[in-house]
Amino acid sequence: MIKISQACLGVEEREAIDRVFADGYLGMGKEVMLFETELKAFIGNDVEIACVNTGTSALHLATQACGIGPGDEVIIPSLTYVASFQAVSATGATPIACDVDLSTGFMDVEDAARKITPRTKALMPVHYAGGFGDLAGVYELAKRHNLRVIEDAAHSFSGYYQGQRVGATGDIICFSFDSIKNITCGEGGAVVTKDKKINAKIKDLRLLGVEKDSDKRYSGQRSWDFDVTEQGWRYHMSNINAAIGRAQLKKIDRFAATRRQLLTEYDRLLDTKNIEQFQIDRNITDPHMFPVKVNPDKRDSLKAYLQEHSIETGFHYKPNHLLTKYSQKNCPNAETLWGQMLTLPLHCNLKNSDVEFITKTIAEFFEKG
Ligand SMILES: *Cc1c(COP(=O)(O)O)cnc(C)c1O
Repeated sequence: MIKISQACLGVEEREAIDRVFADGYLGMGKEVMLFETELKAFIGNDVEIACVNTGTSALHLATQACGIGPGDEVIIPSLTYVASFQAVSATGATPIACDVDLSTGFMDVEDAARKITPRTKALMPVHYAGGFGDLAGVYELAKRHNLRVIEDAAHSFSGYYQGQRVGATGDIICFSFDSIKNITCGEGGAVVTKDKKINAKIKDLRLLGVEKDSDKRYSGQRSWDFDVTEQGWRYHMSNINAAIGRAQLKKIDRFAATRRQLLTEYDRLLDTKNIEQFQIDRNITDPHMFPVKVNPDKRDSLKAYLQEHSIETGFHYKPNHLLTKYSQKNCPNAETLWGQMLTLPLHCNLKNSDVEFITKTIAEFFEKG
């Protein structure tokens, strides 16, 4: 089976785990501190970084740290993993679904503007498939209405936005390092911001709200006499996960080059009559996944045909406004895409010969009618 996505792991990750075993402390400590330092060097020296246990936790803590809670609203594009919606509703705030641009899958800024109310506190754009769409428009809208911007950058780690690594600019940027993202920690996430208060708050909230416990943990100690002022969570990253992430970060440029090269191969071979691509700038993204658009009458049978030929595909994503918990109206583009979308395999273990086989099998399907 050709998997739709997969982590790219080697002996370096295994050695990193062994190092933590030899040290003997698997929880949050020195490895996490070093991973945060290395991420900072990678992204930009004027940002602050807090690593957490998942990308969902990163979004949840970012939202809470902005003081967002019951009675508040956060606008999120409907076309995202349910994690973005769950992270917001976890604070007691209401996620408001907005529509997406058909060509990019990115937040439709005009629709987001229509959905702003006096209760709106933040916009949460999603870097769908690694693209940045009209992110500049999102920031302009946020500025006009005095809103925070929490970027769900789960798909775009190591990409470039406005000439800098994603995360180097912007308000609050959340990454995921789950087992299929651009780099993995096994499970993990990070919140990146230049706002020192937000960073300090997240560092407390990830350790059950225990004030200033992070610095103690980095030096192998912990707080015994402390204060807690608000609800926190057990969301810190472990040394094991950080060690895997550190090994992955060293390989990121090679991973990105491989993913871009595979997409160039798809471009060369893909049946352009029947397959439409999203408009995502390959020169600046580190592409996380490869969703395409197919005639909705053919989509499900194409998926089944590929499955018969041992090619795994998927749908990214079921629009959240169609889920019972988040049921809302008026996201027509997200619904159109839901009928057309098909995600083709993309990961660093894929070979050009796999892309050749996938594109040939797709062409065969359409020739047979
Ligand atoms: C993966 C993902 C998340 C959540 O990250 P986890 O680390 O899996 O919790 C959030 N948003 C999007 C768009 C994602 O793809």
